[in-house]
Amino acid sequence: MIRSRHYTPAHEDFRAGVRRFMEKECAPYRDAWQAAGRTPPELWRKAGEAGLLCTKMSPEYGGGGGDLFHCLIVLEEQTRICFNELTFYLHSDIIAPYIELYGTEDQKRRYLPKMATGEFVAAIAMTEPGAGSDLQAIRTTARAVGNGYRLNGQKVFISNGQVGNLIVVAAKTDGGAGAKGISLFLLETEKAEGFTRGKNLKKIGCKAQDSSELFFDDVYLPPEALLGGVEGQGFPMLMRRLPEERLIMAMSAVANTEEAVTETVAYTSERKAFGQRLMDFQNTRFKLAEAKTKAVLGRVFLERCMDAFIEGKLDTTTAAMLKWWTTQRQNEVADECLQLHGGYGYMMEYDIARRYADSRLGRIAGGTNEIMKDIIGRTL
Ligand SMILES: Cc1cc2nc3c(=O)[nH]c(=O)nc-3n(C[C@H](O)[C@H](O)[C@H](O)COP(=O)(O)OP(=O)(O)OC[C@H]3O[C@@H](n4cnc5c(N)ncnc54)[C@H](O)[C@@H]3O)c2cc1C
Repeated sequence: MIRSRHYTPAHEDFRAGVRRFMEKECAPYRDAWQAAGRTPPELWRKAGEAGLLCTKMSPEYGGGGGDLFHCLIVLEEQTRICFNELTFYLHSDIIAPYIELYGTEDQKRRYLPKMATGEFVAAIAMTEPGAGSDLQAIRTTARAVGNGYRLNGQKVFISNGQVGNLIVVAAKTDGGAGAKGISLFLLETEKAEGFTRGKNLKKIGCKAQDSSELFFDDVYLPPEALLGGVEGQGFPMLMRRLPEERLIMAMSAVANTEEAVTETVAYTSERKAFGQRLMDFQNTRFKLAEAKTKAVLGRVFLERCMDAFIEGKLDTTTAAMLKWWTTQRQNEVADECLQLHGGYGYMMEYDIARRYADSRLGRIAGGTNEIMKDIIGRTL
């Protein structure tokens, strides 16, 4: 239950619609999409029609004019059906804000309305085979030619890499300037000669999320593809967005922690061994008591940070604490809850098995938990 003072009855109405959408448009197809390794473009159009995309974006550009609680609700409702790989949050709450906050007026008008309808599905391509945590080490270049640029390089692990048709690409416009030489570009894939999608990589969890390699071989970018129209601004743009992105990672972690506890209470209340319910063993109650406590602490910390964010007060260090702490607890709880399911916990038809596999990503993506601790450590 959300207790934040920023949470209103209108949010609950929105939740009812999201729940219907998840149950009707996603739950029946989840397994098929996981087998296919991706979601279909029609899903994105339907989500746009139902008002699930770009809920926080200004209505001026076709968005819902909401706040971060709309993002949380979408994440909570997809977590209920154990569909962690649905990347609406990435498209709507991580990528669209780059364009809304930093884009030129022309870029906003060109991309944002179609992102809200799902005609454009967005991806963000920073990571490369040789550069993940150390973003400054990227080797993809955007070389100025005439009015525009030529993009060359390679990216890896890019979510929405198969379904995405609008990719925000981080590239070096000045190889000698370190972080100051990184710029962000908006690449429309349909028109991009020299752009190819590589393998849709096989993963241990979040299987319907198309995490892909992307290749750029002398792809022409017109001058208006440069986000914000000024070179060398990519790194500060990325840095400024990190606290919110980490908050979003924590939303998924907390929602999954809570669902794992709920599912496991239900399972252990039914399942019997040695003539009694699993729940009647003290070990079960103690493990679930610990798990529930972690879920509640995660929720309190998350909502405190969401309130701080909405009030413009969330700092990078606190966001890093929230991200590592909640994703670490998510992993621990998923592991303990799987154990309480016995052999069934190891079977993919039980959601706890999926949650266990999916949870591992939280400690790696969005900045690894080691990087989070480094950020915190530097402030001590
Ligand atoms: C499923 C999935 C989806 C992803 N989606 C995207 C996406 O959409 N777009 C995108 O750009 N990227 C994406 N990523 C990439 C993700 O952000 C990176 O994997 C992550 O930042 C780590 O980078 P790396 O894999 O290169 O690991 P490395 O940076 O090589 O790190 C390896 C290990 O070394 C540790 N390490 C590194 N530096 C330090 C340090 N300074 N101190 C202590 N320890 C350190 C790390 O914590 C880690 O444990 C995705 C990854 C996955 C797995």
